[in-house]
Amino acid sequence: MTGIPLPLVPTLPAHPDLQTDAVLDSGLLHELAHAFGGPFHFLLPHRFDDNLAAFRTALDEAGVDGRVYYAKKANKAAAWIERCAATGTGVDVASLGELREVLGHGVRGENVVVTGPAKNEELLRIAVLQGALTAVDCLDELDRLIALARTGAVRPARLLLRRLPPAQPHSRFGMDEAELAQALERCVRAGDAVRMEGFSFHLSGYATQPRADLAGQLVDLCLKARVMGLQADRISIGGGFAVDYAAADDWHAFLAAQRPEHYHARKAFSAPDFYPYHSPVAGADALRAVLSAVPEGGHDSLASRLRETGTLVLMEPGRALLDRAGASVFRVQGVKDRDGYGILTVDGTSLSLSEQWFNSEYLPDPVLVTPDGRARPDPAGTGAFPAAVGGASCLESDLLTWRKIPFPTRPSVGDLLVYPNTAGYQMDSNESPFHDLPLPPKVVLDDTGGRPRWRLDRRPAC
Ligand SMILES: *Cc1c(COP(=O)(O)O)cnc(C)c1O
Repeated sequence: MTGIPLPLVPTLPAHPDLQTDAVLDSGLLHELAHAFGGPFHFLLPHRFDDNLAAFRTALDEAGVDGRVYYAKKANKAAAWIERCAATGTGVDVASLGELREVLGHGVRGENVVVTGPAKNEELLRIAVLQGALTAVDCLDELDRLIALARTGAVRPARLLLRRLPPAQPHSRFGMDEAELAQALERCVRAGDAVRMEGFSFHLSGYATQPRADLAGQLVDLCLKARVMGLQADRISIGGGFAVDYAAADDWHAFLAAQRPEHYHARKAFSAPDFYPYHSPVAGADALRAVLSAVPEGGHDSLASRLRETGTLVLMEPGRALLDRAGASVFRVQGVKDRDGYGILTVDGTSLSLSEQWFNSEYLPDPVLVTPDGRARPDPAGTGAFPAAVGGASCLESDLLTWRKIPFPTRPSVGDLLVYPNTAGYQMDSNESPFHDLPLPPKVVLDDTGGRPRWRLDRRPAC
C-alpha cells in the first residue's frame, strides 16, 4: 500500500530532544525489548534534576523563599523519589501507600505534604507522627486531625487549610470562606495540638493569573490568621505548571487540520478535550509568571507581597518536573492494511498511555525505531505509511492512537514505537495487568556522559 501523501495526515512532532534521539539511535532499546519481551518505559532522572533546578532558579530570581514538593501521583517510579531524598526536595502524597513509599526511600517526614480529600485515619496519624504537613480539605477532617494530635501524638499536627477556589466553585476540594473562618477558630482553640502554617489551593487548568490572584488572597488570609495568634507564614499554590510538548506552529496547524477522517473508525475527539500540547509559558517560566503577576485588586507583584509579608511559597508540580524525563516503548507485533491506512498492533495496551482514558488522545507523534535507529523514509520511495496504533487486547476500543500517524516508512514486525515525553501521567496512572499482560517495567538511564547505561527502577526482590 502506498500511503496518503504526508500533508494530508496531520502530524504533531514533539520538540526535538537530542538526548532522547541518541538513546533511540543507540540500539539499546532493541536490546531491552529483547530482554523484557514486552513494552517498557525509560526514565531520565537527570532531567528531573534539571527541571527542579529551574524551579529553584525561578524562586531565587524573584527573591522569594519557597519550597518545591514533587506531586507523586504523576508517576509511580522510585527514581524521582530517590532524587527528592538526595536533594532534600519535598514530595506531595495523597495516600498511605504513597507516604510509605516516600518515607521508605528516605524522604524526611518534614519534607512531605499530604494532600487529597478526606484522608483516612491511618494516613493522618502517620503524617502527624512523621512531622509531615497536612493540607486539610474540610472541617470534619480538621476535627479528626486535632483529635489525633491531642491523643498523645508526639508532635503537634502541622497543617495548611485548603481553599476552595472561588473561581472554581464546583470544585469538590477545599473550604469556602465561612468554613475557613470556622477552621481558624478551631485551630486557635486547639492550641499547642496544631501548628497552623498557612493555606493552600490547587487549581485546574494552566493559566498563571488565576494562581497569582488566589495566592494574593491567601497572603491576606495569612495576615488575618497571624492576628489570631496562628503561625500562618506560608501558602501552597499547588501544581498545574504546563508542559510544552510541541512547537506553536505545529500545534496550531494540527488543530486546524485534524478531522474525523484522520482517525481510525472516524473517531472524533473534540479539540478542548486535548491537553494543550503547546504552551507558550510552561514549567519554571509559569512559576516566574505567577510570581511576577500582580494579584487582582493589588498594586505589587505576588513576589513582593510574599517578601513584604514574610510569607513562604510552596508549590506541588507533578507533570512539569517530569518534562522530557521519560518515554514509553512498544514493539510492533502486527501490521495490517485497511482502506488507505494501516493498523499497527503493539505488544502492550492503551492502559500504559493514560490519556486515552480521559476521552482524549496523547498526540505527540510516536517515533518508529528500527534495529538501525530512527526510521528514515523508505529508500524504495513507497512513501509514508499512515497508521493507527492498537493494543494487544481483545477490546475494540483499545487503541493507543486512533489518529493515523504518518510514519516515514511501512513499519515491520519487531520495530519499536517510542512515545516521547510520557513520564508525566501517561506511563502508569491507569496501568493494569489486564489480560494477564505484565505491567511494563521501568528502566532508568543514568546520565553517564558516554554510552547509555541502564538499571531497573525497582530491582527484582531476591
Ligand atoms: C495533581 C495535583 C498536583 C500536581 O498537578 P500537576 O498538574 O501535575 O502539576 C498538585 N497538587 C495537588 C493537590 C494535586 O491534586
